[in-house]
Amino acid sequence: THLPADANLENSRRQVTEACFSYVTPKQTSHPELLHVSPEMRDNLGLTEDDVTSEEFLKVVTGNKVLENTTPYAMCYAGHQFGNWAGQLGDGRAINLFEVEHNKKNWVVQLKGAGETPYSRTADGLAVLRSSIREYLCSEAMHHLGVPTTRALSLALTGDKVLRDVMYNGNPDYEKGAIVSRVSPSFLRFGSYEVFAARQDHKNLKTVVDFTIQEHFPHLGAPSKATYIQFFDEVCTRTLEMIIHWQRVGFVHGVMNTDNMSILGLTIDYGPYGWLEGFDFGWTPNTTDSQHKRYRYGNQPNMGLWNLYQLANALYPLIEDAKAMEAVLEKYTTDFELQSLKMMRSKLGLQLENASDISLVKDLEDVLQLTETDMTIFFRNLSNFKNDSSSDGLSIVQEAFYNPTDLSDKIRQQWHGWFERYAERLLAESILHSERKSVMDTVNPKYVLRNYMAQLAIDKADHGDYTLIDELFQLLKHPYAEQPEHQQWFTKRPEWARHKVGCSM
Ligand code: AMP
Ligand code: MG
Ligand code: MG
Repeated sequence: THLPADANLENSRRQVTEACFSYVTPKQTSHPELLHVSPEMRDNLGLTEDDVTSEEFLKVVTGNKVLENTTPYAMCYAGHQFGNWAGQLGDGRAINLFEVEHNKKNWVVQLKGAGETPYSRTADGLAVLRSSIREYLCSEAMHHLGVPTTRALSLALTGDKVLRDVMYNGNPDYEKGAIVSRVSPSFLRFGSYEVFAARQDHKNLKTVVDFTIQEHFPHLGAPSKATYIQFFDEVCTRTLEMIIHWQRVGFVHGVMNTDNMSILGLTIDYGPYGWLEGFDFGWTPNTTDSQHKRYRYGNQPNMGLWNLYQLANALYPLIEDAKAMEAVLEKYTTDFELQSLKMMRSKLGLQLENASDISLVKDLEDVLQLTETDMTIFFRNLSNFKNDSSSDGLSIVQEAFYNPTDLSDKIRQQWHGWFERYAERLLAESILHSERKSVMDTVNPKYVLRNYMAQLAIDKADHGDYTLIDELFQLLKHPYAEQPEHQQWFTKRPEWARHKVGCSM
């Protein structure tokens, strides 16, 4: 009632009830500039090189033009954040533009950082260049690693300044504003269902669930209690598979709140994520979670399950069969053990199943954590190990140790012991070393987006040099290829980057 006449009512902050989304208009940006386009996503959407170099494309992906007959909207969702119910959250800085159908696939195109929405709460709806570079590079890199993920189409500067921090002298530290256009078959999250369950709005809960099944799980058939259980079962399976991939490549999400859990089992919301350098179950990149480390590497599988319990609670009113739902959740735990072992076998190049593999894996995980040992380098180099007298395991993985001088005689003995067992175990395998190596090299990436690599691209971009963004983008398109010309990126984190981690906002 006290709003000025020109107030943007559509985008104004509010509680939104009985609706899954709100129409909004992206904010106009002052000097938009395109920094990068993903050629793979361009092709997926059926766009051409001419399309993405046009003035119109730039305008659309920076919020300056709304295409005719489209109605941009922000989605309403809730969530559990760090274990606590947080109520309504919603797309506070994401605006869905439209859907594209191409090659029988449907994609939602969304802008992240295009201004306030009804769900912006106390924040500004904007994104800074550093977090946008991190999201842009990582989502495409994850796809090329074979990890289910939302995608990115473009990275652009807005030309506007965004305030995130204050400098030590009290002056505001303005940063370059940016927008990533993200793409996914759907951006529905666990929180999209929780919001209605919490409000006891079972009518809209059913509407969203039925819509989800019809659009994204059509093979499950017409809505019924049995269909809903199968739907939940499939979400559990997809979530589990996604997390197994994270564990395989050493990705730590950092903010596994239920509003960041895709209903399609896609990695979503690249905020303070990070990659394991030293193999460490206790590591989290999220500095705001450094006390409890709820979302640490080793806890991701449990947190996936915890989140699925929240989803189960949200779906319960439609299913009303606690036993059936519990059975699905229990299956997650047993399946996780099986899938995790299978994944670790593949990292070790073991094709046969042997009862002793569990302890072989467990002992490796223990010895890997005795001194700081680079996960990526260790597993990549492991494929060079031959189970003959010519192979000395420790020297093959030597490069992976951050402080080789830390390797006491006792630790060396443990390593030798492990390699002896590994060599013995390999005798049971019938494939040739060369064959095993080539299979292992498709499972253990050589190149991942180490935190310092993204940081270097960010530092250069802050000074107006965007070349490293493209260099890393190209490198990470082929994470399993040798790419000897890029060997400089197959290296341990430099010491200056030890305590530097990326930031989310
Ligand atoms: P996240 O931790 O990134 O998943 O964000 C949690 C919630 O905060 C989501 O509802 C986001 O949309 C919202 N949010 C995060 N950053 C901003 C921002 N700069 N402006 C408005 N909303 C934001
Ligand atoms: Mg989020
Ligand atoms: Mg975020």
